[in-house]
Amino acid sequence: MLNAALSVLSRNGEAETTASSTKTARSAATFVKPRQRPDGDAVAQLREDIRTKLVYVLGKTAATARDRDWFAATALALRDRIVDACEQQQTGSVPDKRVYYLSLEFLIGRLLSDAMNNLGLVETTRAALRELGVDLAEVEGAEPDAALGNGGLGRLAACFMESMASLSIPAVGYGIRYDHGIFRQFLEDGWQREAPETWLAEGNPWEFPRPETTYKIGFGGHVTMTSQGDHQIRRHWHPAETVNAVAYDIPVVGWRGKHVNVLRLWKAESDAPVELARFNAGDHVGAVAGRARAEAISRVLYPSDSSAEGQELRLRQEFFFTSASLQDLVRRHVAERGSLRSLPDHAAIQLNDTHPAIAVPELMRILMEDHEFSWEDAWQITSNTLHYTNHTLLPEALETWPVELMERLLPRHMQIIYLINWLHLEEQSKNTKGGTFDVSAVSLIDEAHGRRVRMGPLAFHGSRRVNGVSALHSELLKSTVFKDLHAIEPEKIVNKTNGITFRRWLHNANPELTALAVEVAGEGVLDDPEGLRKLEPFADDAEFRTRYAAMRKTRKKRLAQVIAERTGIVVDPAALFDVQIKRIHEYKRQLLNLVETVALYQAIKQAPNKDWTPRVKIFAGKAAPSYVQAKLIIKLAGDIARVVNEDPEIGGKLKVVFLPNYSVSLAEVIIPAADLSEQISTAGMEASGTGNMKLALNGALTVGTLDGANIEIKDHVGADNIFIFGLDAEEVLARSREPDYAGKAIAASPRLAAALDAIGNGTFSPEEPGRFSSLVDELRHGDRYLTTVDFDDYWRVQREIDAAWKRPAQWWRSAILNTARMAWFSSDRSMREYAEEIWRVRLG
Ligand SMILES: *Cc1c(COP(=O)(O)O)cnc(C)c1O
Repeated sequence: MLNAALSVLSRNGEAETTASSTKTARSAATFVKPRQRPDGDAVAQLREDIRTKLVYVLGKTAATARDRDWFAATALALRDRIVDACEQQQTGSVPDKRVYYLSLEFLIGRLLSDAMNNLGLVETTRAALRELGVDLAEVEGAEPDAALGNGGLGRLAACFMESMASLSIPAVGYGIRYDHGIFRQFLEDGWQREAPETWLAEGNPWEFPRPETTYKIGFGGHVTMTSQGDHQIRRHWHPAETVNAVAYDIPVVGWRGKHVNVLRLWKAESDAPVELARFNAGDHVGAVAGRARAEAISRVLYPSDSSAEGQELRLRQEFFFTSASLQDLVRRHVAERGSLRSLPDHAAIQLNDTHPAIAVPELMRILMEDHEFSWEDAWQITSNTLHYTNHTLLPEALETWPVELMERLLPRHMQIIYLINWLHLEEQSKNTKGGTFDVSAVSLIDEAHGRRVRMGPLAFHGSRRVNGVSALHSELLKSTVFKDLHAIEPEKIVNKTNGITFRRWLHNANPELTALAVEVAGEGVLDDPEGLRKLEPFADDAEFRTRYAAMRKTRKKRLAQVIAERTGIVVDPAALFDVQIKRIHEYKRQLLNLVETVALYQAIKQAPNKDWTPRVKIFAGKAAPSYVQAKLIIKLAGDIARVVNEDPEIGGKLKVVFLPNYSVSLAEVIIPAADLSEQISTAGMEASGTGNMKLALNGALTVGTLDGANIEIKDHVGADNIFIFGLDAEEVLARSREPDYAGKAIAASPRLAAALDAIGNGTFSPEEPGRFSSLVDELRHGDRYLTTVDFDDYWRVQREIDAAWKRPAQWWRSAILNTARMAWFSSDRSMREYAEEIWRVRLG
């Protein structure tokens, strides 16, 4: 029998036999402490299990197996142990309350190292594979990244899933099993090109397909009314089209294998049979067209972040996974508890951004239509079960859907939204007691841009709590996008600053630093990151600083190797490694960094014999395929790199690198090798950031604006151990109102003017001098992101950093203090706060 965490997820609550077939008595789930010698029996057992999987599941032999096969065999053997751990976790009892985390993205990356580390089987696996003549590192490298997300939002969902499992919070993550995750980026003559990513090409050994757990998802059609004896009018939706949502489960094992949760991803399958008549008539394409249309829903992840694309297929994806997830959790609740009246007591649903906001009318519909609740009761249940996390203030990223499209695709939901809105506006007019209020400010329908449903206000209104993701961001929510709704319900908005899982971003990504931490703070630091504090006194210990710097050097040599392999550029691991790795977006201001790079290049050329601090500027990040300016910024980075890296006068003083295809696995290589972390967004525009946390934890010093979580990082690491520059959020607002602020800033800064001239006149693109004129013109005449305004202060702080690098004792002292003081940014802390203050769920 499988335990509750997995078996409860099967359609009928029946135990499933998929994974337990090869189970024997073994000590699999017992934890082996890291860095201890693995126990010989466990190694022999795992070795035999891997061999068995290779031969009997994959049909390969040691002679014919590729690394990819060894990876699959190892993953399958470890998956058995996760199932075993799962069985030990609880005695089939139903948890009091579960968390359901709905997210259109889960950027989980590779899972092998996570699984080995959390099961305490890293050394056991290494030894077992060695006995089979296979190198663990090669096997790990053969795992494709599960890249089911764009960037920060999807990675956050992945960190949260890992932390919930580690804290034994009973949880299910719900998302879409995309055939193609985020595209693979490659460069052609410096331009971004996109290739489809095919992570499922050879199957996914971590997942359990659950074809018996399938739900019907409707689209289109019409609504009828029936009048019951009690004069209640009931409405029924008759969809024109239905698509099947089929469950695939990936087990998520927590730290020390104590708890296992499930990430349940939905695949779209047509329920229309192939139309035989058409097929026989020779119309082979037409016969399967309906199927293709249905199955398109889980085909591909939309590759834009920070902007809403407004495509019909996207709305179909959102409703598809939201409806399947709600049907699934409602079925489970009814099976376990009977009445849905108690749903808010036993289920907390978290909406990751507005992508699942259609949950508000869909849960209402399910309650009224399938379970005969009155409107009032359904609203009571819905608005006490849902919670919503906002991730952005950028207007172009706030989702709205045309009323016309909603009426066509989801006619019943549109009726429900109208009624929610009508009641909501009625209540407001009562509250203001005949006084006037601004309907357009609080209405769920935007009438100004052709009629559109505003998903943010809908999620706000239908949720019990709404949270921002950093202290600054939550305050800005109250004063900007949700100002009027906040005035109505001042208790609703709370802050939950983001976090990162230290198991991946410290223990797995940086074993050398982890070993140092364990040596100083003891093994307990692996369980409780607050133990990192014990590193603080060692910041003043010269010998420890030397060892910390040696750790970094090891990681930088490794990164230098990767840079050479992938770009051909040779960099010196002794130079300052200055990294900006994140999605390419104007608000993140890679352009500010590039303009400073050009100014530095010009300064070095003017005084080549000055004692410059050698730097390697490392960039990585994808641009949305339709985002023209962002793609031009990538090209600019490449063009600057070509000129600077080949200039003999520059020598090793400055190198510029753009590493293609930024991903979780590339981040794991870059982050432990970074000396300087660029977090330079326009203040007020980055909701939180989590890259900033990963880098500071690994001891990179931050150069950043007072934006997002940078502010809280500064509060924790101390103002002396971070480089802050530029306008703060309030100053940005004030400056934005001044006429021609960019023109004035450029006129006041000859250095900035010269750098812009060089970029604009083709110094870096002699074959096409006007290539970057649109970027430069935008800075001169618009500059929405205040790049020109912050430039001089950025230059100043960068030269301060040059000087700081020449005082190694102080530099490494600051780096150690960063690591020692970042414990608060663990996603375990975030999840504890959500559990206590939003979900009201007990930790296991
Ligand atoms: C952490 C992470 C991000 C988020 O980075 P930010 O700097 O916070 O924007 C994006 N992509 C990947 C692969 C990450 O690991």
